Amino acid sequence: MGTKNCIGCAIAKGDLIPPGGAIYESGNMILAADPEIPIPGFLIITLKRHVSSFAQLYREEWTEMGDVIARAENALKELNLTKEITLVQEERSSHFHVWIFPHKDWMEEKFGKGVSSIRDISRYAMENATERDWEEVARTAEDIRELFELESKRAV
Ligand SMILES: [Zn+2]
Repeated sequence: MGTKNCIGCAIAKGDLIPPGGAIYESGNMILAADPEIPIPGFLIITLKRHVSSFAQLYREEWTEMGDVIARAENALKELNLTKEITLVQEERSSHFHVWIFPHKDWMEEKFGKGVSSIRDISRYAMENATERDWEEVARTAEDIRELFELESKRAV
């Protein structure tokens, strides 16, 4: 896929605003709620450049990405949105992004554990999404952003 119909490029350029807006944004990447799958605390890091794999990242980008993933994980756990996360990065997708997937009790009961359950959980969440679910996704993104901002003040 080229950059023209690329969701990652649309997010990077600000043409597609994820629910609740960016949680963290720099010149290199954006952390936000997933714009297609309404699960509160399901986050996606989108690299601003249109490349597909880890090996194509600059050192500066993966250093920053490691930091953002760690802070996102801490925030999700501090807000009790999950006890456990799964990271997914597929080179198959032409625009580099990392899924930060939160595991919740209802998922395990319905779909079992592990990376193989994520596709079914995502489909279920999309098919059963209500207006209220999307509002909760946006609200959750705002809560996580507040934590991020607090933390960056602490770090200074
Ligand atoms: Zn792209």
